[in-house]
Amino acid sequence: MKSDSGRVSHVSRQKENNMKMVAGNWKMFKTVEEARAYFVELATATPPQGDKVRVIVFPNYIALGALATTGSVPAWVLLGAQDVAAEVEGAFTGEVSPAMIRSTGATHVLIGHSERRHIIGESADLLHRKLINSLQASLIPVLCVGETLEERNAGKIEEVVFGQLDTALSDVQLCDGAQLVVAYEPVWAIGTGVNATNEQIEEAHHLIRQHLKQLLGTAIGGSVAILYGGSVKPANFASIAGLPSVDGGLIGGASLKPSAFAELIAIAEQV
Ligand code: PEP
Repeated sequence: MKSDSGRVSHVSRQKENNMKMVAGNWKMFKTVEEARAYFVELATATPPQGDKVRVIVFPNYIALGALATTGSVPAWVLLGAQDVAAEVEGAFTGEVSPAMIRSTGATHVLIGHSERRHIIGESADLLHRKLINSLQASLIPVLCVGETLEERNAGKIEEVVFGQLDTALSDVQLCDGAQLVVAYEPVWAIGTGVNATNEQIEEAHHLIRQHLKQLLGTAIGGSVAILYGGSVKPANFASIAGLPSVDGGLIGGASLKPSAFAELIAIAEQV
């Protein structure tokens, strides 16, 4: 897949600069008015200085479309969609294409969030097509992978997570590691208040890093950012974001309040 726009290149080199990402997944929360008010408040926070932190927010589609014209989103925040169609265009009622997402100014898209895999029932093949489609539209996929507690207890982390990476990235060739982000989100840690231990995070991130190098080549696989997600909050983020294998966080609940999200951004700047 080729990067075809400056929009992708302006978000490149996050690994080389030791940049940390702070990504907020709003899930199915916030009306248009609430989304606007959120950014009005977030804009009063101190913006991250220099290149150290990249901030991305994933609102719902409706809010994303409205925010494109509102002017309330600070320039230091990138926007993304929480999902995307597996097709380019056509008779797919209710779906939203990568080009439509790009037309809002969004740069990123979540693919394979555990709620879509396990609640909506999205298949590995569908997620693969969403990822290919997104890359072709120069959207940066944030590919979410992670095991359930049952799978972890059965010693199947590698089987599950490598399988998710293998299918999603099959036949994918990148020309820059910045075209992709991977989020390790153990299902048992999402929205539960139970975050993985630092040891569990380091172990999983190292496995994912090695596997990405095998799949994408050493240079590109070595430069894809790997985020941790699962009950991240201001109280635990410094210790998680400070881990050498962690390039940032994908944050659900704690991203919903601008004050908490601003705290997470400030923490990422300091680690
Ligand atoms: C998420 O939505 O990806 C997530 C990690 O949620 P939470 O931070 O609420 O666990």
